[in-house]
Parts: sequence; structure tokens; C-alpha cells
Amino acid sequence: MNQQILNLDALKARFPLIEKLQSEQYVFWENENVAKDSQVSKQVTLDMIQDAENRLKRFSSYIKVAFPITKFSDGIIESELKEIASMKKLIEGRRGFNIPGKLMLKCDHALPIAGSIKARGGIYEVLSHAEKLAIDAGMITEQDDYANFHSEEFRKFFSQYKVAVGSTGNLGLSIGIISAKLGFQVTVHMSIEAKEWKKELLREKGVEVIEYESDYTSAVENGRQVAELDPSCHFVDDENSIDLFLGYSVAGLRLKEQLQQAKITVDANHPLFVYLPCGVGGAPGGIAYTLKQIYGEYIHIFFAEPFASPCMLLGLMTGMHDKISVNDIGLSNRTEADGLAVGRPSRFVGTLMESVISGCYTVDDSFLFRSLKGMFETENIFMEPSAHAGVYGPIELMMQGTSYIEKHGLTDKMENATHIIWSTGGDLVPEELRQQYLQTEI
Ligand SMILES: *Cc1c(COP(=O)(O)O)cnc(C)c1O
Repeated sequence: MNQQILNLDALKARFPLIEKLQSEQYVFWENENVAKDSQVSKQVTLDMIQDAENRLKRFSSYIKVAFPITKFSDGIIESELKEIASMKKLIEGRRGFNIPGKLMLKCDHALPIAGSIKARGGIYEVLSHAEKLAIDAGMITEQDDYANFHSEEFRKFFSQYKVAVGSTGNLGLSIGIISAKLGFQVTVHMSIEAKEWKKELLREKGVEVIEYESDYTSAVENGRQVAELDPSCHFVDDENSIDLFLGYSVAGLRLKEQLQQAKITVDANHPLFVYLPCGVGGAPGGIAYTLKQIYGEYIHIFFAEPFASPCMLLGLMTGMHDKISVNDIGLSNRTEADGLAVGRPSRFVGTLMESVISGCYTVDDSFLFRSLKGMFETENIFMEPSAHAGVYGPIELMMQGTSYIEKHGLTDKMENATHIIWSTGGDLVPEELRQQYLQTEI
């Protein structure tokens, strides 16, 4: 990383919102550079996304036998899109204003196998790596039945190879579970936020867990350095991996189908709003990228971050991406939203997002727990704290985002709007911890 001395005073003069971020208030940042039409970069084309979808289809016969829970969806790892009218009523009652349009939840907290949004990108990248190794070794062709991957022969073959990753928890879970299942030797470098149960679960599955006293960025950096010394090791690079991004981006294609099935129109008179919790940026970025290509000017995408970790907001607003961290402006990066506790965003993703997302907002940890309880009581849905950052989206839009609505000529179309809160994790959280979360008031 280039060393550069950050002139904070000069930066604050250019970007007055930094002062607001420093004082940990609700911040709404509108991206002036968002494009109307779809934005395609040569780095990630629609063909590449379609290719990723095809690869996941090839692997569905493997997934189905290796993880029988997925037999209901024929080995496709997907989640429901669901209206949450009772939660909407609760929010409206508490806030004293209406949220015009329909409120829906994309239920990635319930994605099979890894119980979080990381089941998309993480599993995809490991499968893609495994496919490459097996094809190069002449063990399989794309025309064969991939259920063969679920065999002693393949496990023995993969046991010569290693996979490693740095994580705040959920990516480690996803990579650890799928890699161990295929037979790889796998190491997860866990940052300080990582919850104990996630480490225990991985160790039970034979995964090597290395714990750090430091934050996510340095856990990733350490993991990357160790992996680079070993040619048999594939490092899943959460900050830079195109495969990981492609695995996430497939969700956009699937959402399009789900919206069609639910007979939800997205056009000039029916705007679509999507709210995604953001850590380093890969998961929300991949999804946003595909959705923007599909829906262009009719979609409005916002990323949500905790008060203590608004790294994507800071990176995009200043254009500095990974050259600035939340610590540089005096924030702690300590939040109960462990999946979002990232101080420095991905430059790769941030650059792609410059013209794709409509903005970012920040949310208080105390909201996450109120929302966790509310969602459980009204909809009987359990989502981990990080996943609730998206729930604040429609509220923020009606509070600090009204100028966005006006500027985009949406005022008289809001009754036709669809709001999708993208839930991101929760299904694997142990019962005891769920109870603890449900009783947390901060
Ligand atoms: C990882 C994660 C996110 C954000 O994904 P990034 O790729 O880090 O931006 C959001 N919610 C949960 C629960 C996560 O685990």
C-alpha cells in the first residue's frame, strides 16, 4: 500500500460529512455519480456472471448429495423473497410515518449450508477452484456428472491441496465448510470480532482456525502472506477476488426471476429500492452490480454500514477507496455487527460501485438489536445483528433520503415502489446466543 500522509483537515473541508461520521450520527450519503443506465466493466461482464451461474448448475448434483438439505432446491443454494407486512406495520407504528410501497425481505440469513450471504461467493469460489484442479488432472470434464466430486477418490485428490481465507467469521464458515467437505486442508484466519461459536463449529469440521487479536484487514493480510509461501495453497482473497464477486453476483439473476414469479413490476413507474449491509463490499457489490445491469435507472441501491465502520461510504465519497480507513478519521471499527466490522473497503469493489449504487447510510448498533427483536416478534424470523443494517434503509430513505426521491422524480411513484431488505445471516447462530441477542438492549 502506498504510504501517504492523510491531511484530515483538508479532507474534512472537502467532505463535511466526515465530521458527522466522526460524531457517530445517522449519515445519509448520496452518490452524485450514480449512472442512469446499466454499468458494465470489462473486468466483470454479464457473460462471466452467466458462466458462474452455469458452473453452479453443473455442481448442483454434487451439492445435492454432499448437503442433502439442498435436495428440495435440487442442489441450488438459494433463498426466498418474502413480503414482511407485519414488520412494516411495526416500523410505521414506531416511527409515526408510512413507508410507501411494498416491503420485502431477501432471506439470505437462511441460505443453506453456511447460513449467510457468504454461501454464495465463498462456496462458488471453492467449487470453481476444485473444478479447475480436477479438470487439469483429467479427473472430470464439464459433461460428466459432478456428483463424482462426492467420492473418496476426489477427497483424496483434494487432500493434497490447501485453501486459506481471512475473515470476521461468516466467510470463514462458508469457505471452511465447503473446503472440508471436498477434502481440502483448510485454514481460516479469524479477526478479533469473530464469534467463538463460529470458530468451534469450524474446528469440529476439521478446519484449522488461527485467531488474531487484530482487525479484519490484518487477518486477511497475514493469511495472504502465509498462503503466498505455499504453491499448493489457494487463498480466497475477500478484498480482490473476482471469483468470489462472481459467486455473489449470480444472486442478481436469481432475484430477477423471483420478482417475475411474484409478479412485481420494475419500470419507470415502479421503482425498486434495495438495501444491502456492507462490510468489505464483495457480497453487496456483486449483487448490486448485476441488479444495476438488469434494471438500470429503475433501481436504487443503498449500502448500509455501522456507525463505527462506514468504510465503503468513506472510500467512495472521498474516492480514496482502500487508501483510507475508518481509523484514519478516529472511528473504532468496533461493532456488534461482526460481519460488517471492516475498516478499509475493497478498492476493486469500490471502483465498480462508483456508478452503480445510489448511496450509503450508517446505522447505530442499538437499532440492530431493536430490529432483531422486532423481526423475530412480528415475522418469526431470526437474523443476526449485521443483517439488520438493511432494515434501516427504508426508514432512512423517508427521513434523510427525501431529497433523493424528489431529485429522481419518484415522489408520485413511491406508492408503487418495492423495497427489498437484503438479509445476510443468522441461520447458524446457536439457540443460546439467539436468546442473548433477543434480550440485548443497548
Ligand atoms: C459478510 C457479511 C456482510 C457483508 O459482506 P461484505 O462482502 O463483507 O461486504 C453482511 N452481512 C453479513 C451477515 C456478513 O457475514
